[in-house]
Parts: sequence; C-alpha cells; structure tokens
Amino acid sequence: MPGGCVFCKIAAGEIPATVVKRGDGMLAFQDLNPQAPTHLLVIPTHHVATLNDTKDAALLGKLLGFARELAREVGIAGRGYRVVVNTNPDGGQTVFHLHLHLLGGRPMSWPPG
Ligand code: 5GP
Ligand code: ZN
Repeated sequence: MPGGCVFCKIAAGEIPATVVKRGDGMLAFQDLNPQAPTHLLVIPTHHVATLNDTKDAALLGKLLGFARELAREVGIAGRGYRVVVNTNPDGGQTVFHLHLHLLGGRPMSWPPG
C-alpha cells in the first residue's frame, strides 16, 4: 500500500469511515463530502490507483455488481442512480485509489460538469 493512501487507510480501519457494506475484497462507505442525498464510494480493499491501472477486468465486474446490489439495498435502484468513475485529472479524480461513486436520491443532470 502506498503510505498516505487515504482509501487504503479506510480499508485497513486506520481512519474512520461510515462503512455501509463489505464484500469479498470490496468495501462501500459514505463520501465525506456528499454531492447527493445518497453518495457512497465503492473500493477494492487492495490498492489500485486508477481505472487505467486495473489489470483484473473481473474486478471491475465485481465492483459494478456490488454497486448495483448496494443501490437496491439503500432504496435508490427503482428511481435511478448514477455510477461514476473519475479517472486522472481531466476526469476529476482526486483520490488515486480506484473507486466508484454511487449517487442517488435526486434527479441527475446531463451533461456532467
Ligand atoms: P474523486 O474526486 O477522486 O473521484 O473522489 C474522491 C472522493 O473521495 C470525493 O468525493 C471526496 O469527498 C471523498 N473523500 C476524500 N477523502 C475522504 C475521506 O477521508 N473519507 C471519505 N469518506 N471520503 C473522502
Ligand atoms: Zn490505496
């Protein structure tokens, strides 16, 4: 784990987070600065910096399936939600540990900013 990676620290329980779901090698917790009534982050528990760096395509399927299950569990699946993977600076990524944003609880606009 690169020292200083905040999401590795959350996965290790070294810094607090409101964890809402645990899975096989995955974790979901509340975003510190929510952009919607529901704003959860889904991460692999091992360090992967960005979507570009993900060697294991099956991991991506697992993360997406986990996010979909979570959406159902927190009650936003029916009305709808958005899953976002910001990648590198132009994509708006600020934490360089792969994560899916699960956003819901309000209508989303398009195009994104
Ligand atoms: P990014 O901009 O990289 O796609 O998203 C990073 C997200 O992580 C942001 O929405 C930000 O609010 C969230 N975040 C950053 N640091 C922390 C933290 O220490 N705890 C939690 N729960 N969320 C964080
Ligand atoms: Zn990390």
